[in-house]
Amino acid sequence: MSMTKILDNSDAMDKHHHHDHTECIELSEATLELYCAEHKLKLTPLRRTVFSALLADHTAKGAYDILDRLRDAGFSAQPPLAYRALDFLVEHGFAHRIEKLNAYLACGHPGRLHNPAFFICQHCKLVQEAAADKPVSSLREEADSTGFRLTSTVIEAIGECADCQRAAP
Ligand SMILES: [Zn+2]
Ligand SMILES: [Zn+2]
Ligand SMILES: [Zn+2]
Repeated sequence: MSMTKILDNSDAMDKHHHHDHTECIELSEATLELYCAEHKLKLTPLRRTVFSALLADHTAKGAYDILDRLRDAGFSAQPPLAYRALDFLVEHGFAHRIEKLNAYLACGHPGRLHNPAFFICQHCKLVQEAAADKPVSSLREEADSTGFRLTSTVIEAIGECADCQRAAP
C-alpha cells in the first residue's frame, strides 16, 4: 500500500467544524514528518510551529496570525522567517496560499501534488478544500477541446459555509 493512501486525510478535512480535529492535526503532522525524513528535508522547530499554527483549525491564516503564534511559542517572530517557513510548506504541498484572502491554509491532501480547489466562506474564512483533482476534470476537457494545454489550475470559490448559513436570520 502506498504511503499517500494511508495518510490521505482528505475525508476528515472535507467535513467542516464538526469532526475530530485532533485526527486532522495528528495525520497532517505525521505526514509532514515522514515526508521530510523521506526527502531528507530539515523539519526545523520553526517550520513545525508554523505548520501547527496553520493546522489549528480549517480557516485560512494571514502571515500576522502566524507571527503571533510564533511569538507565543517563544520564537523571535521576524516576518522573513515566517514567510520562508510558509514558502517551504507551500513548495512541498503542505500548505496553500489563498490569493483571495491573502492568507495560508494547511493542505487537506498533504504530500501529493494536486490542482487545488477551495470553497471559501466569506464570513468566517473557513476554507474547505475539494477532493483532489475532481473539480478540474471538466476544465481539462474544455481545454483539450480548444487545443489549450493546461498545466495547472487553482480554483477559489467564494460563498457561505453551512454554519454561517444556519447562523443567518
Ligand atoms: Zn479538522
Ligand atoms: Zn491541497
Ligand atoms: Zn462560515
